[in-house]
Amino acid sequence: SLSIGIVGLPNVGKSTLFNALTKNEALAANYPFATIEPNVGVVGVPDSRLGTLAGIFSSAKVIPATVDFVDIAGIVRGASEGEGLGNQFLANIRESDAVCQVIRVFDDPDVTHVDGDIQPSRDIETINTELILADLQTLEKALPRLEKDAKRNAKDKTAQQVLAAAQEARRVLDEGVSLSVGAQPAGIDVSLLRELNLLTVKPFLYVFNLDTDELSDPALRAKLSELVAPSEAIFLDAKIEAELAELDEEEAAELLESMGQTESGLAQLARVGFATLGLQTYLTAGPKESRAWTIRKGATAPEAAGAIHTDFQRGFIKAEIVSFPDLVEAGSMQAARSAGKVRMEGKEYVMSDGDVVEFRFNV
Ligand code: GDP
Repeated sequence: SLSIGIVGLPNVGKSTLFNALTKNEALAANYPFATIEPNVGVVGVPDSRLGTLAGIFSSAKVIPATVDFVDIAGIVRGASEGEGLGNQFLANIRESDAVCQVIRVFDDPDVTHVDGDIQPSRDIETINTELILADLQTLEKALPRLEKDAKRNAKDKTAQQVLAAAQEARRVLDEGVSLSVGAQPAGIDVSLLRELNLLTVKPFLYVFNLDTDELSDPALRAKLSELVAPSEAIFLDAKIEAELAELDEEEAAELLESMGQTESGLAQLARVGFATLGLQTYLTAGPKESRAWTIRKGATAPEAAGAIHTDFQRGFIKAEIVSFPDLVEAGSMQAARSAGKVRMEGKEYVMSDGDVVEFRFNV
């Protein structure tokens, strides 16, 4: 499954946040395959539709979609030159499908900052710079080979395109600009550079770790959002998240309400992270379980069936689909059928988020 690497300078609250992610009790109860490695946290994507479906179908349990977060050991200035755990660090990011940087905004004289004071923009820059330098090294190493390929295969259009993209990427990175999706500079088709496994082409999202009183400061939040736009920003207090993770659902809801929030920071992180990975869900429901299944945006009905079992994809015949709002309005599957709200879709159908599905297949 796809994963998000959590990175950040030392003492910004990464471990605190990661521990909260892995302690998530509500999820542990709901998610049956939580074989969790020490540095991987499987986090449920909150989805209120599942509870509604469980009501309609009298499901015994609810299983949400999940996102894997990977705790990537501390980056420091100079990581691209092998400082600290530099090489290991970069290898771990290479394996992640998206990158989540935790940035310290909270001030605490007892917790030192590696660079002396609290300055979110500088910290973002520090990590960006290391990733840009690492990508430049990758390109410098690859370019002689790509040039040779292009020369040797003068008629191979792809070889020429790859070389041109690599040269353009080097030019952009040399100016200190990352190749990231959100801020993608025009004219570079990064898919041509896939085999280089560059770091800055990955989707990024940002977690600002604030003090509780800063959380409810809209001007501060707007300013921080602007630093990372068009990437997504999430605001949370890692210490509160750690507390929330220890509470049962009811207690957690009370604590959140007392702070004027409706959703925990971790829940937001899971939701935004899921979308940042380019994923969406469809739903299945029955007496056994109501469940959200993970597919890529743009997946077809047979591909969606494959998320349940590869045999379902191979033997796909058709999908019986009702939209979640239509099903809720009708009140039951039977009523939805009578109302003509249930459609039969074939192999070409592109799934919509929140489709409630029953597959027909040959085995
Ligand atoms: P890491 O090095 O990025 O993994 O940072 P840690 O999670 O170990 O946190 C470093 C220190 O900062 C610990 O003593 C945490 O308790 C503290 N800390 C983490 N988040 C917050 C926060 O939101 N507010 C305050 N005041 N302290 C925090």
